[in-house]
Amino acid sequence: MTELTKLDLLEWLRESRPARLQSLYERANAVRKEHVGDAVHLRGLIEVSSHCVRQCMYCGLRHANRDLPRYRMTREEILNCALQAERLGYGTVVMQGGEDDLLTAKWVEEIVWWIKRETRLAVTLSLGERSRDEFELWRLAGADRYLLRFETSDENLFRVIHPHRYSGTPGRLSLLRQLKSLGYEAGGGVMVGIPGQSFESLAQDILTFRALNLDMIGIGPYIAHAATPLGSGALRPAISPSEQAPASEEMVYKMIALTRIVCPDANIPSTTALATINKVDGRKLGLKVGANVVMPNLTPSKYRRLYEIYPAKACIDESATDCNQCLRGQIHSLGRFAGHGPGGRGMLETPVGIMPDAGANLVQLQA
Ligand code: SAH
Repeated sequence: MTELTKLDLLEWLRESRPARLQSLYERANAVRKEHVGDAVHLRGLIEVSSHCVRQCMYCGLRHANRDLPRYRMTREEILNCALQAERLGYGTVVMQGGEDDLLTAKWVEEIVWWIKRETRLAVTLSLGERSRDEFELWRLAGADRYLLRFETSDENLFRVIHPHRYSGTPGRLSLLRQLKSLGYEAGGGVMVGIPGQSFESLAQDILTFRALNLDMIGIGPYIAHAATPLGSGALRPAISPSEQAPASEEMVYKMIALTRIVCPDANIPSTTALATINKVDGRKLGLKVGANVVMPNLTPSKYRRLYEIYPAKACIDESATDCNQCLRGQIHSLGRFAGHGPGGRGMLETPVGIMPDAGANLVQLQA
């Protein structure tokens, strides 16, 4: 089953019979349990800056969106979020932001260095396309992981939706290889249902995850943002309707499940975008079909609404403590447990003080 061919993947991506899909989800869940266990890792997300020099055709942070007031967190605010992450028992903080030139190499380096010195947190960066020298500097300061989704493996579509900043910059696939060679755990991923994105390219995306041997793979639905060319319909990449992949919940579940089967030991989040298109139980369903990570938001509430990559984001008004409790409740209701360590790839965890085989009893023991 791990030897799924591109044709097999395509067939699954076009599958709609509920019983067949149920069998796919169960298989993916079994692979998840066997390879990464029942721990669900909590990665505290700090949205450090909404300034962005890029013009990505789908993203609300694009430079041309003048209606969005911008912010940049101070160093002290970021450090406080990291301390809060540790108090809440998270193993990792993720510093994410737009491509903001005022997040200088040195500024980021110092913050990474401080977090690594003062806490036991793993540090993940997600600051877009930066130079090899910067990646190296931050790695030397102690950064553990870097998230850089490649969004689609269809090169034409990629080019249409990502106007280059400079010509000749390395593509995101090369940057992911570079990050791995510097010793980062590297995270890629895609949006599902981008206008112009075919079923076939989604099958290719999954093969690309495997070819890159990614440590982390983020998959979420594309969500239209009216202040962007793709979201307003001003830009409509040509594609026949029968080829266009839908930006549906089911399509995302299929992508997560197939990715888990093809990349059994990767860390795969149940994303906020998925929780946004099904606010009731999107996050839980993602965890049931192969995901093993969630990303509670730690961004101070005064900035939350301004990090508007897409509209109506889930959990936008919840405090960090509410988010934490809600997610832990969801994790326990699935018979799983919250990871307590950094949760890197290949680090299997068991519930504290309980033998591996007794994991299923954890909820009863705690009740
Ligand atoms: N500047 C960083 C972080 C971008 S935001 C970078 O370029 O990597 C993180 C992710 O949000 C993006 O990689 C993209 O996959 C997702 N995203 C952005 N706009 C979106 C939209 N309209 N719908 C769904 N996901 C979106």
